[in-house]
Amino acid sequence: MKENGLIIGLDIGGTNVRIGMVNKSKVVEEFEIIKSKEIFHDKPIENLSCFIEDYRRRKGKNKNILAVSLGFPSTIDRTRKIVLSTPNLTGMNNLNVVEELQESLELPIFLERDVNLLIQYDMYMNKIHPESTVLGFYIGTGLGNAIVIKGRIYNGKNGCAGELGHIPIMNNTIPCGCGNKGCMELFSSGKYLQIIREEFFPETSLDKIFVKHSQDPKIVEYVEYLSIPIATEISILDPDYVILGGGVLQMEGFPFHKLESNILSHTRKPFPADNLAFHYARAHQENGVIGAGIYGFSCLKEGRR
Ligand SMILES: [Zn+2]
Repeated sequence: MKENGLIIGLDIGGTNVRIGMVNKSKVVEEFEIIKSKEIFHDKPIENLSCFIEDYRRRKGKNKNILAVSLGFPSTIDRTRKIVLSTPNLTGMNNLNVVEELQESLELPIFLERDVNLLIQYDMYMNKIHPESTVLGFYIGTGLGNAIVIKGRIYNGKNGCAGELGHIPIMNNTIPCGCGNKGCMELFSSGKYLQIIREEFFPETSLDKIFVKHSQDPKIVEYVEYLSIPIATEISILDPDYVILGGGVLQMEGFPFHKLESNILSHTRKPFPADNLAFHYARAHQENGVIGAGIYGFSCLKEGRR
Protein backbone atom coordinates (compact mmCIF):
# COMPACT_ATOMS: atom_id res chain seq x y z
CA MET A 1 0.00 0.00 0.00
CA LYS A 2 1.37 3.41 -0.94
CA GLU A 3 1.62 5.82 2.00
CA ASN A 4 -0.27 8.59 0.24
CA GLY A 5 -3.28 6.46 -0.68
CA LEU A 6 -6.84 7.63 -0.07
CA ILE A 7 -10.10 5.86 0.69
CA ILE A 8 -13.32 7.19 -0.77
CA GLY A 9 -15.69 7.13 2.21
CA LEU A 10 -19.48 7.33 1.95
CA ASP A 11 -21.94 7.92 4.76
CA ILE A 12 -25.35 7.03 3.36
CA GLY A 13 -28.37 8.19 5.31
CA GLY A 14 -32.10 8.32 4.75
CA THR A 15 -31.90 12.04 3.88
CA ASN A 16 -28.32 12.77 2.76
CA VAL A 17 -25.37 11.00 1.19
CA ARG A 18 -21.97 12.32 2.28
CA ILE A 19 -18.77 11.55 0.43
CA GLY A 20 -15.11 12.44 0.80
CA MET A 21 -11.57 11.14 0.43
CA VAL A 22 -9.88 10.13 3.68
CA ASN A 23 -6.14 9.73 4.15
CA LYS A 24 -4.27 7.55 6.62
CA SER A 25 -4.08 10.45 9.09
CA LYS A 26 -7.90 10.45 9.16
CA VAL A 27 -8.24 13.79 7.41
CA VAL A 28 -11.03 14.19 4.87
CA GLU A 29 -10.73 16.20 1.67
CA GLU A 30 -13.18 17.20 -1.08
CA PHE A 31 -16.18 16.57 1.17
CA GLU A 32 -19.59 16.76 -0.52
CA ILE A 33 -23.25 16.17 0.39
CA ILE A 34 -26.13 15.30 -1.90
CA LYS A 35 -29.74 14.31 -1.25
CA SER A 36 -30.23 10.55 -0.93
CA LYS A 37 -33.30 10.64 -3.17
CA GLU A 38 -31.10 11.71 -6.10
CA ILE A 39 -29.45 8.27 -5.96
CA PHE A 40 -31.95 5.94 -4.36
CA HIS A 41 -34.86 5.56 -6.72
CA ASP A 42 -35.03 3.08 -9.60
CA LYS A 43 -31.70 1.28 -10.27
CA PRO A 44 -30.08 2.46 -7.00
CA ILE A 45 -26.83 0.50 -7.42
CA GLU A 46 -26.22 1.78 -10.95
CA ASN A 47 -26.92 5.32 -9.75
CA LEU A 48 -24.62 4.88 -6.76
CA SER A 49 -21.86 3.53 -8.97
CA CYS A 50 -22.24 6.48 -11.40
CA PHE A 51 -22.19 8.92 -8.48
CA ILE A 52 -18.94 7.47 -7.06
CA GLU A 53 -17.35 7.25 -10.52
CA ASP A 54 -18.27 10.87 -11.25
CA TYR A 55 -16.84 11.96 -7.89
CA ARG A 56 -13.64 10.04 -8.56
CA ARG A 57 -13.31 11.68 -11.99
CA ARG A 58 -13.91 15.19 -10.63
CA LYS A 59 -11.99 15.02 -7.34
CA GLY A 60 -9.75 11.96 -7.40
CA LYS A 61 -7.94 12.54 -10.67
CA ASN A 62 -4.22 11.75 -10.32
CA LYS A 63 -4.84 10.50 -6.78
CA ASN A 64 -4.07 7.06 -5.46
CA ILE A 65 -7.54 5.74 -4.55
CA LEU A 66 -7.12 2.48 -2.61
CA ALA A 67 -10.72 1.47 -1.95
CA VAL A 68 -14.31 2.62 -1.43
CA SER A 69 -15.84 2.21 2.04
CA LEU A 70 -19.59 2.67 2.58
CA GLY A 71 -21.86 2.94 5.60
CA PHE A 72 -25.54 2.12 5.12
CA PRO A 73 -28.46 2.63 7.54
CA SER A 74 -29.31 -1.02 6.98
CA THR A 75 -29.04 -4.54 8.19
CA ILE A 76 -26.15 -6.18 6.35
CA ASP A 77 -25.39 -9.87 5.91
CA ARG A 78 -22.68 -11.75 7.78
CA THR A 79 -20.22 -11.56 4.88
CA ARG A 80 -20.57 -7.73 4.74
CA LYS A 81 -21.46 -7.85 1.05
CA ILE A 82 -25.26 -7.78 0.89
CA VAL A 83 -27.54 -4.99 2.11
CA LEU A 84 -30.49 -6.94 3.52
CA SER A 85 -33.01 -4.31 4.53
CA THR A 86 -33.12 -0.50 4.52
CA PRO A 87 -36.46 0.92 5.67
CA ASN A 88 -35.43 4.53 4.90
CA LEU A 89 -34.02 4.13 1.36
CA THR A 90 -35.91 3.17 -1.77
CA GLY A 91 -34.86 -0.08 -3.41
CA MET A 92 -32.04 -1.01 -1.03
CA ASN A 93 -33.15 -4.48 0.00
CA ASN A 94 -31.34 -7.77 -0.71
CA LEU A 95 -28.70 -6.25 -2.97
CA ASN A 96 -25.11 -7.43 -3.34
CA VAL A 97 -23.63 -3.95 -3.14
CA VAL A 98 -20.02 -5.12 -2.82
CA GLU A 99 -20.02 -7.42 -5.86
CA GLU A 100 -21.81 -4.94 -8.11
CA LEU A 101 -19.70 -1.93 -7.14
CA GLN A 102 -16.47 -3.94 -7.31
CA GLU A 103 -17.32 -4.89 -10.86
CA SER A 104 -18.17 -1.39 -12.04
CA LEU A 105 -15.57 0.61 -10.06
CA GLU A 106 -12.73 -1.97 -10.12
CA LEU A 107 -11.71 -1.10 -6.58
CA PRO A 108 -11.94 -2.98 -3.26
CA ILE A 109 -15.35 -2.20 -1.71
CA PHE A 110 -16.02 -2.35 2.04
CA LEU A 111 -19.53 -2.23 3.47
CA GLU A 112 -20.71 -1.70 7.06
CA ARG A 113 -23.68 -0.45 9.08
CA ASP A 114 -23.49 3.33 9.47
CA VAL A 115 -23.32 3.19 13.28
CA ASN A 116 -20.36 0.79 13.11
CA LEU A 117 -18.47 3.44 11.14
CA LEU A 118 -19.54 6.25 13.47
CA ILE A 119 -18.17 4.38 16.47
CA GLN A 120 -14.80 3.99 14.71
CA TYR A 121 -14.68 7.76 14.33
CA ASP A 122 -15.83 8.42 17.90
CA MET A 123 -13.27 6.00 19.34
CA TYR A 124 -10.54 7.77 17.40
CA MET A 125 -11.73 11.28 18.35
CA ASN A 126 -12.03 10.36 22.02
CA LYS A 127 -8.59 8.71 21.98
CA ILE A 128 -10.07 5.41 23.11
CA HIS A 129 -7.61 2.53 22.97
CA PRO A 130 -8.43 0.57 19.78
CA GLU A 131 -8.67 -2.75 21.66
CA SER A 132 -11.30 -1.54 24.12
CA THR A 133 -14.85 -2.78 24.58
CA VAL A 134 -17.10 0.11 23.60
CA LEU A 135 -20.85 0.57 23.21
CA GLY A 136 -22.20 3.32 20.97
CA PHE A 137 -25.77 4.60 21.29
CA TYR A 138 -26.89 6.94 18.53
CA ILE A 139 -30.35 8.36 19.06
CA GLY A 140 -31.57 9.83 15.81
CA THR A 141 -34.84 9.00 14.09
CA GLY A 142 -34.36 5.49 15.46
CA LEU A 143 -32.12 4.03 18.15
CA GLY A 144 -28.78 3.14 16.56
CA ASN A 145 -26.41 0.84 18.42
CA ALA A 146 -22.84 -0.26 17.74
CA ILE A 147 -21.02 -2.91 19.76
CA VAL A 148 -17.22 -3.15 19.73
CA ILE A 149 -15.76 -5.99 21.78
CA LYS A 150 -12.01 -5.84 22.42
CA GLY A 151 -11.59 -3.65 19.36
CA ARG A 152 -13.68 -5.78 16.99
CA ILE A 153 -17.09 -4.75 15.68
CA TYR A 154 -19.52 -7.39 16.93
CA ASN A 155 -21.97 -8.46 14.23
CA GLY A 156 -23.37 -11.78 15.45
CA LYS A 157 -24.18 -14.96 13.54
CA ASN A 158 -26.17 -13.31 10.74
CA GLY A 159 -24.59 -9.86 10.82
CA CYS A 160 -27.60 -8.41 12.60
CA ALA A 161 -26.35 -7.84 16.16
CA GLY A 162 -27.00 -4.50 17.84
CA GLU A 163 -30.68 -4.15 16.93
CA LEU A 164 -31.20 -2.65 20.36
CA GLY A 165 -34.24 -0.64 19.32
CA HIS A 166 -36.14 -3.85 18.77
CA ILE A 167 -35.96 -5.42 22.19
CA PRO A 168 -39.50 -5.83 23.51
CA ILE A 169 -41.35 -3.90 26.18
CA MET A 170 -43.56 -6.03 28.42
CA ASN A 171 -47.32 -5.83 27.81
CA ASN A 172 -47.03 -3.49 24.84
CA THR A 173 -48.70 -4.29 21.52
CA ILE A 174 -48.03 -1.16 19.44
CA PRO A 175 -46.77 -2.29 16.01
CA CYS A 176 -43.18 -1.38 15.11
CA GLY A 177 -41.82 -0.76 11.59
CA CYS A 178 -39.77 -3.97 11.92
CA GLY A 179 -42.93 -6.10 11.98
CA ASN A 180 -42.82 -6.93 15.70
CA LYS A 181 -44.91 -5.35 18.42
CA GLY A 182 -43.95 -3.26 21.43
CA CYS A 183 -40.33 -2.53 20.46
CA MET A 184 -38.28 -0.18 22.64
CA GLU A 185 -37.54 2.10 19.67
CA LEU A 186 -41.19 3.16 19.62
CA PHE A 187 -40.33 5.23 22.72
CA SER A 188 -36.53 5.51 22.89
CA SER A 189 -36.06 7.43 19.64
CA GLY A 190 -36.36 10.73 17.82
CA LYS A 191 -39.56 9.48 16.21
CA TYR A 192 -41.23 9.41 19.61
CA LEU A 193 -39.92 12.87 20.49
CA GLN A 194 -41.68 14.12 17.35
CA ILE A 195 -44.92 12.45 18.52
CA ILE A 196 -44.59 14.10 21.96
CA ARG A 197 -44.06 17.47 20.30
CA GLU A 198 -47.11 17.14 18.08
CA GLU A 199 -49.32 16.01 20.94
CA PHE A 200 -48.15 18.16 23.86
CA PHE A 201 -46.06 21.06 22.51
CA PRO A 202 -47.46 21.88 19.06
CA GLU A 203 -46.36 25.52 19.41
CA THR A 204 -42.69 24.57 19.94
CA SER A 205 -40.38 23.64 17.09
CA LEU A 206 -38.60 20.31 17.60
CA ASP A 207 -35.15 21.91 17.88
CA LYS A 208 -36.32 24.00 20.88
CA ILE A 209 -38.16 21.26 22.73
CA PHE A 210 -35.42 20.63 25.34
CA VAL A 211 -34.67 24.34 25.77
CA LYS A 212 -38.29 25.10 26.58
CA HIS A 213 -39.67 21.94 28.15
CA SER A 214 -36.90 19.84 29.71
CA GLN A 215 -38.61 20.10 33.13
CA ASP A 216 -42.00 19.03 31.78
CA PRO A 217 -43.05 15.54 32.99
CA LYS A 218 -43.45 14.32 29.37
CA ILE A 219 -39.84 15.21 28.53
CA VAL A 220 -38.57 13.91 31.88
CA GLU A 221 -40.32 10.63 31.06
CA TYR A 222 -38.84 10.63 27.54
CA VAL A 223 -35.28 10.96 28.88
CA GLU A 224 -36.06 8.07 31.22
CA TYR A 225 -37.20 5.98 28.21
CA LEU A 226 -33.89 6.70 26.47
CA SER A 227 -31.92 5.41 29.43
CA ILE A 228 -33.57 1.98 29.67
CA PRO A 229 -32.17 0.18 26.59
CA ILE A 230 -28.78 1.87 27.14
CA ALA A 231 -28.56 0.71 30.77
CA THR A 232 -29.72 -2.76 29.72
CA GLU A 233 -26.87 -3.26 27.27
CA ILE A 234 -24.32 -1.77 29.69
CA SER A 235 -25.33 -4.28 32.35
CA ILE A 236 -24.98 -7.13 29.85
CA LEU A 237 -21.56 -6.18 28.44
CA ASP A 238 -19.80 -4.13 31.17
CA PRO A 239 -17.97 -1.95 28.60
CA ASP A 240 -14.77 0.07 29.00
CA TYR A 241 -16.50 3.08 27.43
CA VAL A 242 -19.95 4.27 26.43
CA ILE A 243 -20.42 6.71 23.54
CA LEU A 244 -23.64 8.70 23.41
CA GLY A 245 -24.58 10.51 20.22
CA GLY A 246 -27.10 11.05 17.46
CA GLY A 247 -29.28 13.96 16.43
CA VAL A 248 -31.51 13.97 19.53
CA LEU A 249 -28.58 14.30 21.95
CA GLN A 250 -27.07 17.03 19.81
CA MET A 251 -30.18 19.19 20.07
CA GLU A 252 -29.88 22.42 22.03
CA GLY A 253 -30.54 22.03 25.74
CA PHE A 254 -30.52 18.23 25.80
CA PRO A 255 -30.35 17.19 29.52
CA PHE A 256 -27.13 15.13 29.46
CA HIS A 257 -26.76 14.98 33.23
CA LYS A 258 -30.29 13.68 33.63
CA LEU A 259 -29.70 11.01 30.98
CA GLU A 260 -26.46 9.92 32.66
CA SER A 261 -28.04 9.76 36.11
CA ASN A 262 -31.00 7.78 34.70
CA ILE A 263 -28.62 5.32 33.02
CA LEU A 264 -26.66 4.93 36.25
CA SER A 265 -29.82 4.41 38.29
CA HIS A 266 -30.70 1.39 36.10
CA THR A 267 -27.18 -0.06 35.87
CA ARG A 268 -26.03 -2.86 38.18
CA LYS A 269 -24.20 -1.82 41.38
CA PRO A 270 -21.43 -1.61 42.34
CA PHE A 271 -20.18 -2.38 38.80
CA PRO A 272 -20.46 -1.49 35.97
CA ALA A 273 -22.20 1.58 37.48
CA ASP A 274 -19.37 2.81 39.73
CA ASN A 275 -16.76 3.58 37.07
CA LEU A 276 -18.83 3.92 33.92
CA ALA A 277 -17.01 6.13 31.40
CA PHE A 278 -19.21 8.24 29.11
CA HIS A 279 -18.06 10.02 25.99
CA TYR A 280 -20.16 12.18 23.71
CA ALA A 281 -20.13 12.08 19.94
CA ARG A 282 -19.45 15.48 18.40
CA ALA A 283 -21.76 16.78 15.72
CA HIS A 284 -19.79 17.11 12.49
CA GLN A 285 -21.03 16.39 8.99
CA GLU A 286 -17.83 14.49 8.16
CA ASN A 287 -17.91 11.94 11.04
CA GLY A 288 -19.41 9.04 9.10
CA VAL A 289 -17.14 9.62 6.08
CA ILE A 290 -14.01 9.66 8.26
CA GLY A 291 -15.30 6.55 10.07
CA ALA A 292 -15.70 4.89 6.67
CA GLY A 293 -12.11 5.83 5.87
CA ILE A 294 -10.80 4.42 9.17
CA TYR A 295 -12.73 1.21 8.53
CA GLY A 296 -11.45 0.99 4.94
CA PHE A 297 -7.82 1.29 6.06
CA SER A 298 -8.32 -1.37 8.73
CA CYS A 299 -9.87 -3.74 6.13
CA LEU A 300 -6.91 -3.18 3.79
CA LYS A 301 -4.49 -3.82 6.65
CA GLU A 302 -6.22 -7.13 7.32
CA GLY A 303 -5.82 -8.01 3.66
CA ARG A 304 -9.55 -7.96 2.85
CA ARG A 305 -10.48 -7.33 -0.76
ZN1 LIG B 1 -39.13 -3.24 16.07
